[in-house]
Amino acid sequence: MSEETGQIRSNYLTVRDQIDARVKLVHREPGSVKLVVVTKGQPVEKMQALIDSGARWIGENYPEETAEKLSALHDIQNIEWHMIGHIQSRKIKYLVQHFDVVESVESLETAQKLNSRFEDAKRKIKILLEVNVSGEATKQGFDLVNRKDWGRFVDYVGEIETLPALDLVGLMTIPPLGDDAETSRAYFRLLREVLEYVNLHKHGRALSELSMGTSFDYLVAVEEGATIVRVGEAIMGARHYS
Ligand SMILES: *Cc1c(COP(=O)(O)O)cnc(C)c1O
Repeated sequence: MSEETGQIRSNYLTVRDQIDARVKLVHREPGSVKLVVVTKGQPVEKMQALIDSGARWIGENYPEETAEKLSALHDIQNIEWHMIGHIQSRKIKYLVQHFDVVESVESLETAQKLNSRFEDAKRKIKILLEVNVSGEATKQGFDLVNRKDWGRFVDYVGEIETLPALDLVGLMTIPPLGDDAETSRAYFRLLREVLEYVNLHKHGRALSELSMGTSFDYLVAVEEGATIVRVGEAIMGARHYS
């Protein structure tokens, strides 16, 4: 085992143990948090070390990059691939071919486009809706900073749930970068409140997934109810771009 390989394994196991310990500390159900390891900008050797360490969920931002890496990786039958980056229409074909969950559905239009491409391919795909909880103009997603917009969001959820190729399971957010992890707590709480509001007002099955927390603040996210955390550099080391 090379030094780099050993480092990734040890980082992965450490982060996983920390999550398990925090889940226990706040009296959540054991195993209720999925650790999605984010591998954008990482070489395949490091990704293979991650997979060999037992990682089951991998997050990528650029589907074309993912497609290139996939042919060089082995033992990936049990990996669930999560798309977490901005969705470009002309890259949707890679999503259809290679991904299991799309976390970054940022608008009704994007949902409709995804639906028609997955329908064409006779595939169904799990999705999350990306929510902008800070109002930052640079952030993608449904802007839900003002509670008066939540009612309309429930209508969007209802509409998206009628799209036959999509299986809507939850919400995802990227909070603004703060000075420390505690700064994220209020944003994570807001996302959880949106989920509770939607479930109270929507018809049909409740949404269950909350994807929030990165290398910087994943333990705070676990405390606030994350069911998915997306951790990159804390496990994989620095990437070639960000
Ligand atoms: C890159 C990325 C992450 C991981 O960030 P790290 O700081 O490397 O943990 C998580 N979520 C999204 C949406 C990302 O683009």
